[in-house]
This record gives sequence, structure tokens and C-alpha cells, in this order.
Amino acid sequence: MSEAITQLAYAVATALFVLALHWMNDPKTARRGVQGGVAAMVLAILATWAQPQVIVHHVWIAGAIALGFLVGVPLSRVPLTAVPQRTALSHAFGGLAAGLVGTAEYLLWVQENAARLTTFRMVAIVAEIILGYLTFTGSLMAAGKLMELKWVPQRPVTYPGQNVVNLGLLAIAVGLGVGVIVNPAASWAVAAFMGVIALALLFGVLLIIPIGGADMPTVISILNSYAGLSAVAMGFVLDNKLLITAGALDGSSGLILSIIMCKAMNRSFANVLFGAFGQVEAKKTTGEQKEYKSETLEGAAQVMEQANLVVIVPGYGMAVAQAQHKVRELYDQLKKRGVTVKFAIHPVAGRMPGHMNVLLAEADVPYDDLVEMDAINPDMPQCDVALVVGANDVVNPAARTDKGSPIYGMPIIEADKARTVFAIKRSKNPGFAGIDNELYFSDRTFMLFGDAKAVVGDLVKQFSGSGMH
Ligand code: NAP
Repeated sequence: MSEAITQLAYAVATALFVLALHWMNDPKTARRGVQGGVAAMVLAILATWAQPQVIVHHVWIAGAIALGFLVGVPLSRVPLTAVPQRTALSHAFGGLAAGLVGTAEYLLWVQENAARLTTFRMVAIVAEIILGYLTFTGSLMAAGKLMELKWVPQRPVTYPGQNVVNLGLLAIAVGLGVGVIVNPAASWAVAAFMGVIALALLFGVLLIIPIGGADMPTVISILNSYAGLSAVAMGFVLDNKLLITAGALDGSSGLILSIIMCKAMNRSFANVLFGAFGQVEAKKTTGEQKEYKSETLEGAAQVMEQANLVVIVPGYGMAVAQAQHKVRELYDQLKKRGVTVKFAIHPVAGRMPGHMNVLLAEADVPYDDLVEMDAINPDMPQCDVALVVGANDVVNPAARTDKGSPIYGMPIIEADKARTVFAIKRSKNPGFAGIDNELYFSDRTFMLFGDAKAVVGDLVKQFSGSGMH
């Protein structure tokens, strides 16, 4: 394939990557976004493969693609709740690939053609291996924490001087890297290069252990941007413009996503990376035992039937219970009775960005009834019933009022302003942030204890079974 055609194919692939990201912005076009991304990747691989000067052994490439399918297909079959760890695993592969390519290029050139190891290329190779290998082990640790593997502690593991040790290690790796950049062909350079790799692998592990399991989605997003940056470096090493642009897209989108998540949690990057969130058992025993009020399903159904506006606030518990289909049935029953039903979507409800949108889309809830937090909050005082389905932190009024609370300042769905609140959860346990929720003790709140799927299912039965018209 001539060079011009390859470059044209790369330009089309780049445009498709950009469009794919744009289409992902909206659930209506998200599927097209996935297809666009796949098409861009296929085009990129074929255009590269067709270059005779790049690929000599076709069997190796075919074998590598087959191996990719062997790992990728089972990875794609995980349930939705396991998507964050699945994503972490694919970043680990991306990081490893970048690290191995950088290692191979250096070792090959240092033996055969040391003149190619210009300072520019060496800077790119060293950046590629540090970012690639730390993304590899960091992402594996993140996936392990999310998979709740026995040998990966969920709680943050901290010790005095930890940040100094970690940053010290990184500084040594960078120092050795600079040595190799300046003297790539020296007798000690290969050993120093291997030292950089070992330190980067270790740094990836040490970077993640002080971070709590529940912060992993944000960390994965940050690791995503590291993997993107290592791909950019790889693009410079291999002189491949597509890798540079695709890596830059990956790097910047990962960064933007982590900023959005941090903002929605009112946390800083530094707090996520070094804050050891979730370490303190925040269940403060104040001595006084506050009382919850509960309500029968029959009573709750009656109140909802009389309502003009019901706002359903889904959270992580809806995902755990896989209650979205039952929630959709409840939505249908209420709509049939002329009740206006809206879903209040908090940007960090659940455990990954867009978690609620994806679940509700799976249950075919019309997109127009999914309302973002800022748009629904002004309506909350007019809302007759807020039905909280397995959400906790995202409706905790402490975020507005309690300066000492770990979630102080986080924007919330103002369910507490509704005339009546029904809250579905299984127990009196706190949510992700590990803190009590005043909403559940409010005069207006009635608990419907139980698994979300079972409780919503029973609520639906109240409407469909008992002749409520
Ligand atoms: P949450 O605060 O974790 O609360 C979820 C609640 O669901 C729990 O209190 C739990 O209570 C209940 N629950 C669990 N399983 C259930 C089941 N089967 N049936 C009924 N209830 C069930 O969740 P959230 O309100 O959605 O808030 C999300 C939190 O995750 C925020 O603090 C956010 O900052 C954090 N976070 C989100 C993301 C993201 O991207 N979305 C990323 C990182 C962190 P019981 O145990 O009593 O049932």
C-alpha cells in the first residue's frame, strides 16, 4: 500500500476516533460511537498491516490478533457491574503493550543501530516505559481491588512517609532514565534501563495500595490517561502519527473524565490519590440511637398513586440488585395512572460514570425522563414523592450542611426537599462514603427495607395485582 493511502487511512481512522468519542456523549448515539471506534481500530490495524516495510512476518501478526480475541471476547462478556474492573484490565494490557514495544525498540536499536537512539527518541522511549509499566501494575492492582481479590487489600494501606517513599522511587526511576537518555549505548545502559522498568512496575503497585477500593473508578480513569500518554510516546518512537493522535485522545479523555468525577464528588485529584478515602471507619457512635420510620408497601403505593410528580433517585443499590427492569415496570404503572415520573441522575451515582444511564437504557426507560441533577433539583420542592432506590451518598443532606463530613460540598440530589421520601435499601448500613444519612431519619422519610429488586417488584404487584386503578 502506498504511503499516501496509508496516511489517508490513518486520517479517516483519526476522524472516526474523534466522532466515536463525540457520539458517546449521548445515549441515543452511544451505540454508533462504539461501532465508529471499532471501525477506526480495524482500519488502523489493516492500514498498518498492509505496509510491507513495517510487517515482515504476517504469521506473528495474525497470531497476536487471534490471541487478542481470545482474551478480549471473554472480557467483553462481564456483567455491567463488573465494567470498571474490566476496563482496568484492558488498560493493564494497553500499558504492558506500550512498555514491551518501548523495551523491544531500545534493545533492538542498541544492538543493531545505536545511531537511531537520538535524544528525542530516547526521551520518548523512557516516558513510554515508565508510563506503560506503571499503568500495567497499577491497573492490575485497581482491578484486583475492585474484584475484591483476597490478596489485594480493599482498604487503603498507609504508613508514615509513604508519599516520600513513592515519589522517591519515581525520582530514582526518572534519574536512571535520564542517565540512559544521555548515554543510551554505554556499557551499563541496558542494566539501568531494566532498573527503570523494575522501578516503574513497583511504583504502579505502591501508587495504588494507599487508595481505597471504592475510589478505583476515578483512579482507573487517571490510569486511562497514563496509558494514552504512553501510547503518544510510543507514536513518537515508532514515528506513527495515528498512535500519537489516538493516544492523545485517550489521554485527554481519561483526564477530563477523572476531573468530572472529582468535581461531582467535590474531591481534588490529590485527595483521591493521596487522601486514603474510606480508611477511617466513619461510623461514629454518638450514643443516641435515632429511629427510622418504615412504611408498608400498600401504604407507599397509595401515596405514589395520589402523587402528581414522583421522582425516582437510583443509586448503586439498584445496580447491585439489578432492579432496573422492575423500576421500569413501576414507571409504567405510575404513568398509566397519570402520574408524572422522572428519574434524577446524579453524575457519580453508582460506581462508574453513566452507570445509571446505562442501566435505565437497558430497561428502555425513555431518555427524556432521565433528568440531570442540576435540572431536577429546582423541581424537588414540588415533588410529591422521591423514591430513593439504593442510593445513599448522592442524597445525603450532610453534603450541604455538615462541614466535618467527608462529602461536604459534594452536589447532591435534593430528595430531602420532596414532600414524602420512600427509601429502599437492605439495612441500616451506610453507602460508599461510610457515613450516616440524615435523610433516613427525617420526618418525611419512610424506609422500605429490602433488596431493591424484590421491594420494587412487590410495589409493582400492589399496582398490578390488587386492583389499584
Ligand atoms: P452509595 O452511597 O454507595 O449507597 C448505595 C446504597 O445502596 C447503600 O447504602 C446500600 O445500603 C444500598 N444497597 C446495596 N445493595 C442493595 C440492594 N441489593 N438492594 C437495595 N439497596 C442496596 O451509592 P450512591 O448513592 O449511588 O453513591 C455513589 C457513591 O459512589 C458516591 O459516594 C460516589 O462519590 C461514589 N463513587 C462513584 C463513582 C462513579 O463514577 N459513579 C466513582 C467513584 C466513587 P444497604 O447495604 O443497606 O442495602
